[in-house]
Amino acid sequence: MFHTILIANRGEIAVRVITTARAMGIRTVAVYSDADRDALHVALADQAVHIGGPAPRDSYLRGDRIIEAARTSGAQAIHPGYGFLSENPEFVDAVEGAGLTFIGPSAAAIRAMGLKDAAKSLMQEAGVPVVPGYHGENQDPEHLAGAADAIGYPVLIKAVAGGGGKGMRRVERPQDFNEALESAKGEAATAFGNETVLIEKYVEKPRHIEVQVFGDGTSAVHLFERDCSLQRRHQKVIEEAPAPGMTEAMRAAMGQAAVRAAEAIGYKGAGTVEFIVDGARGLRTDGFWFMEMNTRLQVEHPVTEAITGVDLVEWQLRVAAGEALPARQQDLTITGHAFEARLYAEDVPAGFLPATGTLDHLHFPPGARIDSGIRRGDTISPWYDPMIAKVITRGPTRAVALARLRAALEGAQIAGSVTNRDFLGALTRHAGFAAGDVDTGLIARDIDSLTAAPATPVETVALAALATRAEGDAKSLAGFTLWEPHWQRVVLQDGETTYDCTLARLPDGGIGIRIDGAELRGERRGGAWWINGGKATGEACVTGGRVSVFGARTVHFTLIDPLAVEADTGAAGGVILAPMPGLVKAVFVAVGDTVEKGTRLAVLEAMKMEHTLAAGRDGVIGEVLVEAGAQVEAGAALIVLEEIDD
Ligand code: ADP
Repeated sequence: MFHTILIANRGEIAVRVITTARAMGIRTVAVYSDADRDALHVALADQAVHIGGPAPRDSYLRGDRIIEAARTSGAQAIHPGYGFLSENPEFVDAVEGAGLTFIGPSAAAIRAMGLKDAAKSLMQEAGVPVVPGYHGENQDPEHLAGAADAIGYPVLIKAVAGGGGKGMRRVERPQDFNEALESAKGEAATAFGNETVLIEKYVEKPRHIEVQVFGDGTSAVHLFERDCSLQRRHQKVIEEAPAPGMTEAMRAAMGQAAVRAAEAIGYKGAGTVEFIVDGARGLRTDGFWFMEMNTRLQVEHPVTEAITGVDLVEWQLRVAAGEALPARQQDLTITGHAFEARLYAEDVPAGFLPATGTLDHLHFPPGARIDSGIRRGDTISPWYDPMIAKVITRGPTRAVALARLRAALEGAQIAGSVTNRDFLGALTRHAGFAAGDVDTGLIARDIDSLTAAPATPVETVALAALATRAEGDAKSLAGFTLWEPHWQRVVLQDGETTYDCTLARLPDGGIGIRIDGAELRGERRGGAWWINGGKATGEACVTGGRVSVFGARTVHFTLIDPLAVEADTGAAGGVILAPMPGLVKAVFVAVGDTVEKGTRLAVLEAMKMEHTLAAGRDGVIGEVLVEAGAQVEAGAALIVLEEIDD
């Protein structure tokens, strides 16, 4: 076994690998960028090596520096995690060239699965079902349109080098084909430097079911399936194992196909074979097709660990060190059911806009496995994926595991950034999801109800107001010795709504709360707040100038100084600012253009996504301060919108 390994990654996956390595008695070396000097993975590793600036291309993608760090720290092997260099065959060659072990598959296996078209051909030869379509060399638009006609609409255009849902377009009708082809190619060219596409039958009511495989370079086993159908814009949101409605026959067919795929390329280590499944007719052994193989450990691997009891990172280390496959197929079994929810700093109603911030408060209830690279007080920087944590629960049945996931999310307290916590919580309460009726379109269909923000109950406002007046830790009544019997004013703002509250200690020891005409009575009993005789739902937490109430829904109030003069916001919307640091991809307007509310003004690429900046009102373009290709800071003025002169 190795005595020292280096982890060429950051965040939760680096922490995940360190945890298992440590449990196996293996020393760990972390690498870090300027942005990660104080990160958890650096604190946990036995040794840490600085490798460069915050941009991934200056650090986590610098294979040369990472290999040098392994050499100088005495590491014998490199674990790539996921993302960054994990599926880069040149990096694997360089690692092996330096006499080190790459904890993962061979460069040849990664290359074989690197492009979707070549992978599909290879799989077809290996007898693995692939989605009907055209994945040949002829890229002539007319030929591709002809292929689409032959396949039958709707079709999906996919970049062969694609990933993360980029370079993908669904086309409903032949007359829309050419435009969709152009835009898919354009996106693929910018994102991957390769505009080759393939055309596939669009599977109706699709389910994404993938199979975890594990190989030793010759033979492979599978560790059953994961259902990752809950997606937004082709990105996974909640994953589970096993798949709802899975039959033994279907599981055997999919498992065998996945093992065939892995063995066809002499796969070594942990990998995932992704299938698309036709959910419209129920799960049928003739209704699943190979999509692609991910030649690395996946983000969602913990749900497989939860139902099989296998530590996949331990298996990775053992097989990389030369051991045989740790189990035979017949030794592997499924116990219970597991879910994983990906908790992100992002603004869901704003279109899943990635967010940043310092998490002044971060707390998870017991009862769930939390995989995270973030601690209280850490900052979500704009440089990397804004993941806060993966929340993983298991149970003897799907219903129990789901109830635990809901409880874990509702008990999670995060202040300092907007998050998708409430959206994930709403998904756990979705009737169709609870019934196991999942497909990749579920979120898009029900996005309005999943993001609906009901009016804030007055009790929640009262709880927030009480928390602001409790001294320090609200858990003891002693905190109220400073309370005066006269009324004190607390002004709280929640979005557009301002609540003017007054509080005072009542002669009977309770606390009176008046909010815009309503009168309530608060009381501290048994370590909890009671309002009007009922136990308050949720917990309030005061950080800086904000009060957050965490319950089924999170409400972040801003504390307003009652004496402060109201700021004049008359000019709002006149200057279009960059919402985050990023690259200006396109500017669609010029000085003097008349635009309507909603007109697209520019596209900003930031945090792996494109964000369209639109006019907030009608107006005339007064100034254009940037051009395409410019790198801008958060808050940079991009475009000035002036009033229309009559
Ligand atoms: P990427 O590599 O960009 O993630 P994938 O090929 O893995 O692209 O596909 C991503 C998602 O797109 C899938 O999980 C599925 O939801 C959807 N998808 C892919 N192929 C099809 C298809 N032929 N029909 C319907 N949906 C599809």
